[in-house]
Amino acid sequence: MFAPEFDYYRAGSVAEARELLDAHPDSTVLAGGHSLIPILKLRLAAPAALIDIGRIDALRGIASDGSTIRIGALTTHAEIAASDLLKGKAAALPEAAGQIGDPAVRNRGTIGGNVAHADPASDLPAVLACLGAAFVIEGADGERRVSAPDFFQGLMTTAVGEDEILTGVELSEAGDGEASAYSKFAHPASRYAVIGTAAKVGLSDGVCTSARVVVGGLVPAPVRAGAVEQALVGQAVTTELIAEASRKVGDSLDDDDLLGDVYASAGYRKASAHAWVRGALSAAVARAG
Ligand SMILES: Cc1cc2nc3c(=O)[nH]c(=O)nc-3n(C[C@H](O)[C@H](O)[C@H](O)COP(=O)(O)OP(=O)(O)OC[C@H]3O[C@@H](n4cnc5c(N)ncnc54)[C@H](O)[C@@H]3O)c2cc1C
Repeated sequence: MFAPEFDYYRAGSVAEARELLDAHPDSTVLAGGHSLIPILKLRLAAPAALIDIGRIDALRGIASDGSTIRIGALTTHAEIAASDLLKGKAAALPEAAGQIGDPAVRNRGTIGGNVAHADPASDLPAVLACLGAAFVIEGADGERRVSAPDFFQGLMTTAVGEDEILTGVELSEAGDGEASAYSKFAHPASRYAVIGTAAKVGLSDGVCTSARVVVGGLVPAPVRAGAVEQALVGQAVTTELIAEASRKVGDSLDDDDLLGDVYASAGYRKASAHAWVRGALSAAVARAG
């Protein structure tokens, strides 16, 4: 299948990309193309122009100032999966990135494209929501930072405006006694997340001091499992407690929002989600302890 015709512009900087978006009203940003090009070929979108940001070096890389990690929007899944900094300070993220698709997708697909596309079956939205990421967006009024609940606005909808560029994401480094993990039920062909769960916990002398659990794949945008978190905080962490708390994940899901398809019905996803919550929590606790 062929994409519809479009004009092509390559931007050399974020400022130039924004100028091009402004000058061409019906235009769309192109990064690695792994989500956008299939959409064009399927004729689900037909923008008049593509603004290629793929060679803007300023949008690449992973760096830390000692407390906050900044990941450029064009950083690929493979680069994230291989990052020792992230493995040590935000382990759920490289763990999830390493499970995305296949090597071709990981080598070319970017973190910015993944989250800007906001597919509910993507891995990174749930992980970044769990890690409390700030999404850095540049527009006419300068730079703004948006938290995950405000960034992911629904099915394939985000806070990035038509003339804006997502320049990167920022994360706090895990502190002493804190760790995170990701566990997913992968679609057997594409590896997209049928269910994806990210957990971050804090432990002190075996007692859970903080817990953050976010589930993806089940509903249009990543959702925090508040009942699971509440069942853990202040308790001595055991295998039994993790299993019991994980079973509360359904309390945070609105039945009207549940997604289902030929691979897994909404009911199946809801009934089995606890197993992946338990997996992510168990791994995070093992790392934190
Ligand atoms: C075979 C296959 C398997 C896959 N499996 C998985 C999987 O297991 N898990 C998973 O999470 N994902 C999976 N994906 C999706 C993949 O992660 C995304 O396609 C990829 O990350 C998108 O990044 P990109 O740079 O290619 O974005 P593009 O395709 O270039 O862009 C995607 C969208 O984001 C917008 N965009 C991109 N960058 C920016 C930016 N900086 N600012 C504003 N808007 C922007 C574009 O306009 C477009 O709308 C799979 C994809 C394929 C093709």
